[in-house]
Amino acid sequence: MVPPNVLTELEQRFIRYVRIDTQSKDNAPDFPSTPGQWELLRLLADELRHLGAHDVTLTQWGYVLATIPATAPAPDLPTVALLAHVDTAPDYPGGNVRPIVHRNYRGGPIVLPDDPRQVLNWENAPELRDKIGEDIITASGTTLLGADDKAGVAVLMTLAACLLADPHIPHPRIRLCFTPDEEVGRGVDHLSLDELAANVAYTLDGEGAGEIVYENFCADRAIVTITGVAIHPGSAKGRMVNAVRLATQLAEMLPRDHDTPETTEGREGYIHLHDIRGNVAQVQLRILLRDFEEEGLRARAELVRSLCEQIQRVEPRARVECVIERQYRNMRYWLEKDMRPVQLAEEAIRRAGLRPVSVPTRGGTDGARLTECGLPTPNLFVGTHNPHGPTEWISLQDMARSWETCLHLVQLWAEHGHGYQGWQGA
Ligand SMILES: [Zn+2]
Repeated sequence: MVPPNVLTELEQRFIRYVRIDTQSKDNAPDFPSTPGQWELLRLLADELRHLGAHDVTLTQWGYVLATIPATAPAPDLPTVALLAHVDTAPDYPGGNVRPIVHRNYRGGPIVLPDDPRQVLNWENAPELRDKIGEDIITASGTTLLGADDKAGVAVLMTLAACLLADPHIPHPRIRLCFTPDEEVGRGVDHLSLDELAANVAYTLDGEGAGEIVYENFCADRAIVTITGVAIHPGSAKGRMVNAVRLATQLAEMLPRDHDTPETTEGREGYIHLHDIRGNVAQVQLRILLRDFEEEGLRARAELVRSLCEQIQRVEPRARVECVIERQYRNMRYWLEKDMRPVQLAEEAIRRAGLRPVSVPTRGGTDGARLTECGLPTPNLFVGTHNPHGPTEWISLQDMARSWETCLHLVQLWAEHGHGYQGWQGA
């Protein structure tokens, strides 16, 4: 059971954090990409110092790092890092958020007052059915809420407060880390694993209660450049080679009613042509390749390559180049060497009274990148729903379930973490 004062603390922190505009920005020259993120990062560093956390630092790249010293010291226990990101998505307005707490939800639609066309109901928010009697937090209709990921931030700060105040809860050394610019895909670009100094980590950035993610796509990208022969159309006969036409031919040859994002789900992969730009002289096509297994990913790359070769054969005067760039890999490949990070999280979720649900994520996460660098980092739920838009919502009680899960998790590591290896330094 979660004590009532924890619910109050979670709510107060959450409301305070979502009011700060921390929207990140694509292709910005700075890191973090926006000044609002610094405001929240500084505030978190100050709060952690007030709470008595050790080694509180705000790095030059905008990472807040802090230590909660072990209360169950044993030389062979790993250090466990917990991460959340402070930025909100650039896809929808994220400034002047006016959070609204709908106490003791009674069922039925929730109308958002600043734009009454924005309504939460059981069609667009089916999980609301299970939240009768809970406290639902939404924005006011014209902005996103930012529960992604300020719920994660509020949960970790409230957990830190609790652990620092009560030395009787046994846990190993814990590192807290708050990161900027996750939503623009750069969240761990400047995070040093040596600085983080943990053997295993979790991101708190997941959705529905009970969810744990330790599988994600293997991802590559194909960049196809078609170079034609440009010439004035008036004297083009027999001489022009139109790269635009060749590009559309290639686009037509790619799978259309299968193996695309719009026709797949679950564990199915895809080939996603998402950007074409250019002219008669040259066109570039950008194609995302996704599959849960490396084998399948290779097969998709091969298909794109062979289609490029076909185009090349049909029009030898053009130049068709296909470059495959590596993006990220399924974190399961690293985790399956020692599944303890997943098993202990599942047990923590059960102890919080929930059923663990493992959903393979159809994207990458900061955790996937960290795992690939050698720091095993599954992702845990915080209770966010409908992120990145005006109907984003969260149940305060789900946030409390996330808090409780983390509280069990750190104690489980003290009990069962002996000898765990994970990240061992560069
Ligand atoms: Zn997030």
